[in-house]
Amino acid sequence: MKTGLFLYDTKSRNLLEVESSNESAVRIYCCGPTVYRDAHVGNLRTFLLADLTARTLNFLGHQTLLVQNITDVGHMSEDFEEDKLLSQSQLEKRDPFEVARDYEDRFHTDLARLNILKAKRYPRASESIDMMQTLITHLIENNHAYVGEDGSVYFSAESFPGYGAISGNKLTELKPGHRYEYSEGGAKRFHADWALWKAAGNRSEMIWDSPWGTGFPGWHIECSAMSMHFLGETVDLHIGGIDLRFPHHENERAQSNAAINNRELVSLWLHGEHLLFEGRKMSKSAGNVVLVADLISQGLDPLALRLALMENRYRSQMDLTWDALRSADKTLERWRERMAIWSQAPTAVADLTEIAQHLAQDLDLPKVLIALRALEKSVVSEGVKYATFMEIDRVLALDLNRPVVKKELSVEARMLLEARAIARTNKDFALSDEIRGKLEVLGVNVQDTAQGQVW
Ligand code: AMP
Ligand code: ZN
Repeated sequence: MKTGLFLYDTKSRNLLEVESSNESAVRIYCCGPTVYRDAHVGNLRTFLLADLTARTLNFLGHQTLLVQNITDVGHMSEDFEEDKLLSQSQLEKRDPFEVARDYEDRFHTDLARLNILKAKRYPRASESIDMMQTLITHLIENNHAYVGEDGSVYFSAESFPGYGAISGNKLTELKPGHRYEYSEGGAKRFHADWALWKAAGNRSEMIWDSPWGTGFPGWHIECSAMSMHFLGETVDLHIGGIDLRFPHHENERAQSNAAINNRELVSLWLHGEHLLFEGRKMSKSAGNVVLVADLISQGLDPLALRLALMENRYRSQMDLTWDALRSADKTLERWRERMAIWSQAPTAVADLTEIAQHLAQDLDLPKVLIALRALEKSVVSEGVKYATFMEIDRVLALDLNRPVVKKELSVEARMLLEARAIARTNKDFALSDEIRGKLEVLGVNVQDTAQGQVW
C-alpha cells in the first residue's frame, strides 16, 4: 500500500515513496544505540529521524511497526581491539551487563524527554543469540558463510553479487589490508569477508556456546537477525545515521538478502546526516560531547533540542550551537504562551494541506516551521491558529499546549505592566508600545486580549 510519503533512498539515490508491504502497518527498523555510554545529541538526531518518520506516517493516516535493537555485545571499538561494552565495564569496574542495562535505561529516559515515541520492540543483542545462530547456520548451509580455522564464522563477501550497492564501495575496489572491518586478520579467505561469529579466544565474559565453539556474535548479524525475526521477509524502511552506510548496512544487506534467496529485504534505506556541535565533530577525546542532561542543567527545555533539530533537514549536516538551543527554547515558550491565549477562542477546523505536503516531500520540517511562523503572525482567527498548532503538534511533539510556568515578575516589570495598563486605558498606544519594548528587554512578553493584557 502506498503511503504518500517520499524519502531519499540511499541505495537507489532517489526519492522513493514509502510503501507498506503489509496492510496493517509500515514496517520500520532503526539501528539502536550501543549501550556503553549516554546517547549524545547527535545520536538523538538519528533517533529523532525515526520518530519524525513514524509520526509523519501516522499523520498521513498509516500505522507503523518500529523495531530498534539494543547493542549490548559485539560492537568493537574503532581501534578494532575490544568490545565497547567490555572496555567500559573495565573502566567502571562493573559487570558489563550492569553497565549495559544502566545506559539502556538512560537511553529510554532521553527518548522520553524528547517525546520520541516508543518502538514496538527493543530486542537486545545478548538476548537474541539463538536467533543469530540460526541465521548463521542457514548462511553456512547456503554457502554464503564458512567456519574459519580460528573457530570464527565468516561471511563470504564474494558470494553476494550485489555487495556495495548502498555505499558505492565495490568489492573490486576494496583493497586488501584496508582496515574497514574489525576482524582484519584471523582466518578469512578473502580480505573483505567479515565475522558473523567470533571465537572467544581468551575472552571470558559475554560469551556463549555455539555449534562452532564458545564465542560471541559480530555486530552486523544482529540487525539482520532481528529485522527478519520481528518484521518478516520485507522491511519497508530501514533507518540509521550516515556513518552506518558502510560497512554496517552493506554487510547487513548482504547477510539478509543471502538468507532469502537474494531477494531484497529492505525496500528503502534512509540515512540521517551527522550533527556537529559548535562547528566540531563531537567526540569524547575532544571533550565536546553534549547530552540532554547538559541542556537541562543549562535551564533549557529538552524539547528545545527537538525544535532546533527540526530547523534543519535530515539530509544536511547540521551545526548545532548553544545560541540555537537558547533561541529554540524562547520560541517554545512564546508559542506556549500564545497557545494559552488562543485556546480561549472557539476552535475552528484547521487546513493542513500545505503542511502535509511539506512533510510528505522528504520530511521538509524547516518548511513546516516557516508555515507555522507565518500562521502565528497572520490575521486568521486565534481559534484557527490554536487548532492548527495542536494538529501539527502530533508530528512536532513540542507540547505546544503545555502551560508555561510563570517566572516571578521583578518589581520593575510589575511597575511597567501597571503603567502599560494605564496607558491603554488612556488610549495612549504609542506609550503602550514603548513600554512593551521595555518589557521585552526584561524577557516579559505581553499580549493584548479581550480580557486585558496578559504576560
Ligand atoms: P551508536 O550508539 O554509536 O551505535 O550510534 C547510534 C546512532 O547514532 C547510529 O545510527 C549512528 O549512525 C548515529 N550517530 C552517531 N554519531 C552521530 C552524529 N554525530 N550525528 C547524528 N547521528 C549520529
Ligand atoms: Zn544496525
